[in-house]
Amino acid sequence: MGRQSWSLLHMITGAFPQKFDDGLRQKFNTFLVLFGQMYPCKLCANHFMEMVRREGLFKGNSKKELMEYLCYIHNKVNEQLGYPIHDCSNVVE
Ligand SMILES: Cc1cc2nc3c(=O)[nH]c(=O)nc-3n(C[C@H](O)[C@H](O)[C@H](O)COP(=O)(O)OP(=O)(O)OC[C@H]3O[C@@H](n4cnc5c(N)ncnc54)[C@H](O)[C@@H]3O)c2cc1C
Repeated sequence: MGRQSWSLLHMITGAFPQKFDDGLRQKFNTFLVLFGQMYPCKLCANHFMEMVRREGLFKGNSKKELMEYLCYIHNKVNEQLGYPIHDCSNVVE
């Protein structure tokens, strides 16, 4: 379930337009918060929402920044779980 969920999230960010406006940024952040809240593992959902509150929502202006942001928060979960940290420097390629 976790792997498929991350795959869906990375796929969605990969399909975003290159340039952002305030409306699109707000839509993504609303989606992320709702996705996090609805995640079927309740303990995971609580940890995830705490982490997103701590790290902040997406504030960037481009698809590249969005993909880097998602890579970063995925890494925060990896860190909590003791998983390897993914290189986010070439996440767009
Ligand atoms: C919102 C959310 C919260 C979660 N919270 C928890 C939790 O609290 N406790 C828990 O046990 N599990 C949690 N999970 C599940 C966990 O993150 C893993 O998905 C699960 O353990 C399966 O791990 P995996 O090895 O298949 O790799 P996953 O982390 O699922 O990653 C799948 C693949 O994505 C690639 N990848 C890894 N890191 C990145 C990155 N930063 N950017 C881009 N690609 C990357 C790798 O190729 C990896 O094999 C959560 C999942 C989600 C979606």
